[in-house]
Amino acid sequence: MKKMMVAGNWKMNMLRYQAKDLTQDILSGLVDVKDDIDIVLAPPFTALDVVSGLIGNSRVMLAAQNVFWEDRGAFTGEISPAMLVDAGCKWVIIGHSERRGILGETDTVVRKKIKASLSDGLNVIVCVGETLQEREVGKTIKIVQSQVESALMDLELDDPQRFVIAYEPVWAIGTGKNATPKEAEDVHVTIREITGSIFAQDSELIRIIYGGSVNGDNIDELLHMENIDGALIGGAGLDADSFVKIVKIAGE
Ligand code: PEP
Repeated sequence: MKKMMVAGNWKMNMLRYQAKDLTQDILSGLVDVKDDIDIVLAPPFTALDVVSGLIGNSRVMLAAQNVFWEDRGAFTGEISPAMLVDAGCKWVIIGHSERRGILGETDTVVRKKIKASLSDGLNVIVCVGETLQEREVGKTIKIVQSQVESALMDLELDDPQRFVIAYEPVWAIGTGKNATPKEAEDVHVTIREITGSIFAQDSELIRIIYGGSVNGDNIDELLHMENIDGALIGGAGLDADSFVKIVKIAGE
């Protein structure tokens, strides 16, 4: 059965002592949350070991926010999928709009990272989404379609639950303006059609989550949409109470 997913992307926030406090607060808030929801925390690389040590074998899973596609070698500053697995990661976020927009990550780079991660045992959350300008000129579906098709090109999925697509409209990230449930659902339906055309029945198990200014007040109505299978949380994930509130609503 497909489980909802709530993932917290901490971005470039949290020194190690802060990561420790936040993780401890989240874990204590989650004690009475049901098991049928996947909870993922994505701290910065420098705090992976702190968070990994605290979550131990709990139901919370560790994610990295980025990865390189080679296994090892002369790639100064990069981190391989195997290194992330070694650091305790189960998931990796790939193609976040901040990486695409600020760091110039292309669809081809995103695809290479997805393939390398899946084949080395990491599960993947790939982000797609249009900019405000693209939405305003009516290109949302076209942009998302091409990002998703590129991410899925020649992809072999042994287990569709290892692959999550996060629809994150760029204009909604960190802005306090979230897509309406209907706006998000329309794009999720398009993504579902693409996954369906490639993976047939298996595609139902691929989760399509929404991200963009999600908080404890708007998560409920978003999750009422048929094709929204969870949320990727930025700002609200830096506050334990807000994150736990979102998880609890998603788990209801
Ligand atoms: C994100 O960065 O993935 C995100 C969704 O951020 P926020 O929730 O702050 O908009």
